[in-house]
Parts: sequence; structure tokens; C-alpha cells
Amino acid sequence: MKNRIDYFTSTRDFVVNSNKKGYYYWKKFAKYFKEGNQILVRNSKTKIDYLIKLVEDPEIIPTKYSKYKWYNQKYRAKFEVIEEEICPTGKSRQLLIREKNDLLKNYNYKCPGLSFKSSFTSKLIEINCTTQFNNTVKPQYDHIIDFSSKGGLTILNNLQPLCEGCHKVKTALTRRELILLLESKFRRT
Ligand SMILES: [Zn+2]
Repeated sequence: MKNRIDYFTSTRDFVVNSNKKGYYYWKKFAKYFKEGNQILVRNSKTKIDYLIKLVEDPEIIPTKYSKYKWYNQKYRAKFEVIEEEICPTGKSRQLLIREKNDLLKNYNYKCPGLSFKSSFTSKLIEINCTTQFNNTVKPQYDHIIDFSSKGGLTILNNLQPLCEGCHKVKTALTRRELILLLESKFRRT
């Protein structure tokens, strides 16, 4: 997308009508949501990116709509779709700078450590870590479900910022798992 993007968000249930217009709903007041701003909405289910433009300032959803599901959001504003494309990064390994920033913010600029179930032994592997990222300590962006061996997508839900140490451990464990798997395949009974 070559258009201006004022805000980026990823959601499972964003829908667009055939006339390419609709209401955009959200829960908390945010300065990005105002008339004229362009928001990139990634539907994490369909992997389609929509660049929408808000064509009016937000309003608090009137109470007469309380029976609708979207009433539990607080604000809404009319939008028009400017551009639509199949999520370009989902299938490539590369992350956009904007996505890296969003990811870091989601993780409070800290390494989450490791917590994942070994797909081979079904054991939970847990390592606590609170490494704080800054200008000198840079994160490595890890696909939670592996990109090359398991087809994990490059979308925010499948990414985490790991410190160098945790990333090394995870890579080594993943490799160890592969060895165990191969050993079990060729083991004589
Ligand atoms: Zn770590």
C-alpha cells in the first residue's frame, strides 16, 4: 500500500459491505480516530488488508442500538474503503517497521520468555525472562508457530519479540525436537 496510513490494527471480525462503506467500531477513545484519517485494518481471519478512511468524526453509539452485538463497542464512525489487498506480509517472512513497533508496544518492550508445548514430547517448556529492549538491546522477531517448517504466518498474533538468549534457546529446542522426531522415525523396534 502506498497510501498514507495513520493507524494500523488487526482484528478477526471486520466486515465491509459490497458498497465498500460501513461503520468502524471501537471501544476506547483514541486520537487517531477522527475524520480524514486513514486506518489500515487487517482481517486476521481472511488475511485481507483494508485501508479505510473515516468520513466523519466518531460518535458515541446511540442507545437505540443496544440490541446489536457491536453496541458493546463504544464509538463508531462511517468509513469508505480506499484500498483492499490480500495481506502482503502474511506469507513473507519480512515484518514492516510499523508492525515491529506495534508488536513491541503489545509486549511492553520486554522479552516474554518462553512458554510453549513441545509438539514432540507434549511437555510444556517454560523460561522466565524480563529482558527490557532499548536502543542497544534489540529484539529478534520470532514466529510463534514456525514460519518455514510449520507455515506460521507473519501476522501480529503469530509473532513475539524475543531477546537473543531466548531466541537461541527456542531455536535449539526446535532443532532438538526435529532430531528426536527423526530418531523416533528410524528407531528399530
Ligand atoms: Zn528473553
